[in-house]
Amino acid sequence: MYQYMSYGSKERDRATEDFNPDNKLAEGRFGPVYKLTLLSTLWNKLWTLNIPPKVRNFVWRACSNILPTRANLARRRVLIEPLCAICGQAEETVSHALWECPIARNVWAMVRGKLQKCGARIQTFHLLARQLMEKLTREEQELWAMVAWSIWNARNRFYFEDTQSQPSDILKGATTLLQDYHRWNGQMAHR
Ligand SMILES: [Zn+2]
Repeated sequence: MYQYMSYGSKERDRATEDFNPDNKLAEGRFGPVYKLTLLSTLWNKLWTLNIPPKVRNFVWRACSNILPTRANLARRRVLIEPLCAICGQAEETVSHALWECPIARNVWAMVRGKLQKCGARIQTFHLLARQLMEKLTREEQELWAMVAWSIWNARNRFYFEDTQSQPSDILKGATTLLQDYHRWNGQMAHR
């Protein structure tokens, strides 16, 4: 039986973040395994989207706040500096990296439809995802996921390849990949 006693409540809260003990699913070698109800509802919705599995996984990791952003790496003491190295204006949290950072804003500004009306500031990426799953059509949700993934890749190119991507290219990369995936999926369905 897993005992909390060996840990302080602070350590426990930090380790499990906002996971509630009521949502405990099982015990694993590394401690309890939790199910967050809201996240699982979101996951069910994400699962129905016709997007590449790697993108679905990426959105899931973004919503679960386990992407290796600088803020998350600093929290785990991998990095010391949590500040976004692209704009230098704020900590690089998931919401900053994919939504609030100027590079991300420039891309989202080019996406037509309801996405443009969403505020520039959000609490967490998970909350944004939940809002968008209510508000957007399925096609818009698919594009949103692809664009977020494309922004993350552009950030990685900046960090690891020293390459800057234009917002229009980031958006085009996302739409092209989505179209190709739908076409490929359509072909597979008719075989
Ligand atoms: Zn930034």
